[in-house]
Amino acid sequence: MDFNLSGFSINNQPKEERHVKVLILGSGPAGFSAALYTARGNLEPVVLTGIELGGQVSLTYTVENYPGFPDGVGGQQLVELFQKQAERFGARVEFDTATSVDLSKRPFTVSAENAVYYADTLIIATGATPIHLNIPGEVELTGRGVSYCATCDGWFFKDKNVVVVGGGDSALEESLFLTRYAKSITIVHRRDELRAGAILQRRAFAEPKISFIWNSVITEILGTDKVEAVRLKDVVTGSVRDQKADGVFIFIGHHPNTQLFAEQLELDERGYLKTDVLMHTNIAGVFVAGEAGDPNYRQVVTSAGMGAAAAMQAIRFLEANVEE
Ligand code: NAP
Repeated sequence: MDFNLSGFSINNQPKEERHVKVLILGSGPAGFSAALYTARGNLEPVVLTGIELGGQVSLTYTVENYPGFPDGVGGQQLVELFQKQAERFGARVEFDTATSVDLSKRPFTVSAENAVYYADTLIIATGATPIHLNIPGEVELTGRGVSYCATCDGWFFKDKNVVVVGGGDSALEESLFLTRYAKSITIVHRRDELRAGAILQRRAFAEPKISFIWNSVITEILGTDKVEAVRLKDVVTGSVRDQKADGVFIFIGHHPNTQLFAEQLELDERGYLKTDVLMHTNIAGVFVAGEAGDPNYRQVVTSAGMGAAAAMQAIRFLEANVEE
């Protein structure tokens, strides 16, 4: 079976080859929790960070619903604490990204940018990425006013007028964050009712800088070098109009980062890895934790819990299947 496993690094040098008992893909709450538990099981896990150390939570300004932090905790600070705690017990963190996998036999082969790993067990905690609107102007103006992360880019919109797309928790939470900088935030939602939870709704409705355009979608983002306006379509009346805007923040959900496994592991119709309550995939020894396999909860605390659960299953699997 050929899964295009390259044994050479980008400068054409043979890659380092390493045998590990537990390989964890992803460094978000799920990945670091799995690392903590398997490290405490004396299994010297290796965590490949992926492109973004800490994943989505590292881009979150404050996490207010992770237990143990009554005053909230900064997203990046939480990731640093996760990493420090896992490393204290022997987890190794590599700034590397998996590029191909062969799960047809054990040990599993995972080729990353800098090394090839032979792993007795694999915990997939690759998380999810923001969904795009796929409308004209979106790609062209990304980084020029179009953004998927208020924490990263909010500062650039001091005293500006921004539009936010979406009606879920993310859209409202990020809009509330943007009130620190922006002059006005207009939330465009395709229905007349929000999906977000009650507390966030209450806060958003009470915030004088935030207003709503209901039953509407953005069909085009306009501007040459930077965002200048959005084209709005009322989905009830069909009417179209342009509204001036300096920025467009898009929060309409996420895609799980599972493409790497699509030919070898079972995915559901939305691309999430299928898992049972014990975090097993269809291949023995391969486990899933966090948003790559979770279309339902997608919280820091649930992802961390799944990481711990997957780690406990990996420990049991190794005890039953791999000779010392
Ligand atoms: P979400 O709950 O899936 O909401 C996505 C929103 O975008 C929905 O309002 C949806 O509209 C809208 N939408 C989807 N596709 C669209 C399109 N093509 N054009 C226009 N609008 C579109 O996503 P999320 O807000 O990122 O939240 C995901 C999960 O993370 C949820 O479980 C949420 O509770 C959780 N989360 C929690 C917190 C927190 O607890 N503090 C913060 C952030 C996220 P419809 O409503 O019409 O479907």
